[in-house]
Amino acid sequence: PPRAQSAAAAGYQPESEFYKVEAILRPWRVPYVSSGLLQMGIRGVTVSDVRGFGAQGGSTERHEGSEFSEDTFIDKVKMEIVVSKDQVEAVVDKIIEKSRTGEIVIPVSDVIRIRTGERGERAERMAGGLADKLSSAMPIS
Ligand code: GLN
Repeated sequence: PPRAQSAAAAGYQPESEFYKVEAILRPWRVPYVSSGLLQMGIRGVTVSDVRGFGAQGGSTERHEGSEFSEDTFIDKVKMEIVVSKDQVEAVVDKIIEKSRTGEIVIPVSDVIRIRTGERGERAERMAGGLADKLSSAMPIS
């Protein structure tokens, strides 16, 4: 179950109304993570194809059994999710549950939905999203 812990209690700095969670995933894990996020009401997710190496030294798992040096870049997917402060821990927990990967959390000073010009909480909220699911109140219109 998600930890009932605020972003502030988790120690994310600086304090911010919104945060962006970034996770670097092995490509085959992406559908598991994205469907898990969608199920919990996270509807705004961006992915990009990236390449990287890190703690596992460009781990060669599933890389055709060939030998690679430590600085071999491996294909990864970067997933980015902007959420309100109170949803950060639930998103982080879901990513960990579905992918066993690390992630970083970045403060976001404002959110703008370009299509509508909405800013702040109005722009961050998604119709039928997690905030709506958690709230008995009518979604903001
Ligand atoms: N926090 C938003 C909501 O509850 C969802 C944000 C997102 O999907 N990235 O509606």
